[in-house]
Amino acid sequence: MDALDDKFYRAKIVQRNDFASDLWMIRIDPGGPFSFKPGQYATLGVQTPEKRSERAYSIVSSPLESEIEFFFELVPQGELTPKLYALKPGDEVLMRKSSKGLFTLDQKSGRTNHFLVSTVTGVAPFVSYVRTLYRAWKEGTFKGEHKLFLLNGASRSWEFGYTDELCKFAAEVPWFKYVPTVSRPWDDEKWTGEMGRVDDVMRKYSDLWGLDGTNSVAYLCGHPDMIENGKSILKRIGFTKQHLKEEIYWIPAKEAASS
Ligand SMILES: Cc1cc2nc3c(=O)[nH]c(=O)nc-3n(C[C@H](O)[C@H](O)[C@H](O)COP(=O)(O)OP(=O)(O)OC[C@H]3O[C@@H](n4cnc5c(N)ncnc54)[C@H](O)[C@@H]3O)c2cc1C
Repeated sequence: MDALDDKFYRAKIVQRNDFASDLWMIRIDPGGPFSFKPGQYATLGVQTPEKRSERAYSIVSSPLESEIEFFFELVPQGELTPKLYALKPGDEVLMRKSSKGLFTLDQKSGRTNHFLVSTVTGVAPFVSYVRTLYRAWKEGTFKGEHKLFLLNGASRSWEFGYTDELCKFAAEVPWFKYVPTVSRPWDDEKWTGEMGRVDDVMRKYSDLWGLDGTNSVAYLCGHPDMIENGKSILKRIGFTKQHLKEEIYWIPAKEAASS
């Protein structure tokens, strides 16, 4: 076993689905034990003769599934995603053997409303929450004592990735509400659902669902600008740091350059 195998699994890609030209999912068989909580992330990498590139990716699947699933967005000038994009079923991807992250469902604060807000691939940790609770609901170990309210934003409807699955859950269980919203409806003429950027419709849905800083925990995941705007909106309805969780996927280039 070399030093690489000490820290990484050479995970095998067992499935790939492309949702759009720059959005896709994979399922992998890590080839060894990998434990995580819904909402955590894995570190994936690709080794070339020159270097190893690694990045964090939220896990879409539930810990109760045998394979691990990820939802990617291609960053054309990025270091790792073009390499991940080239991989197909049967290929290997490196995955660090331990999961990380604190973006888990807060079941300890005493609050049972969870306001989940995401852009595009930022829905990944929330799919993991819902898949896990759904299994427990079916097995009778979760009785619906926590309620999840998910607002999911994308430019166009084909970028949601998981909307069919999430709509099915929402239609079946009383503890999950789901609203996908499209910010470029002029590019998506058949779309008849909610319109506007997810941060623009947050206030409407927090009012409709009765969620505020006194009764809910809020979770923001994905695009840094959405998280910045989303936090301001949530603060205005009483959310404080204690009940506001965020998972920022990247630092905007101008800030990255000046920091
Ligand atoms: C905890 C955590 C979880 C994450 N989970 C996911 C996930 O589930 N799916 C996913 O696709 N990504 C996720 N990311 C982002 C991921 O880690 C990489 O940053 C991303 O895939 C880009 O990697 P890259 O090497 O191709 O680009 P880089 O070489 O790292 O970045 C190149 C440039 O693009 C900018 N950039 C990075 N990502 C984006 C983007 N999506 N849109 C626009 N500009 C961007 C960077 O700021 C940089 O300026 C997560 C990040 C964190 C911190």
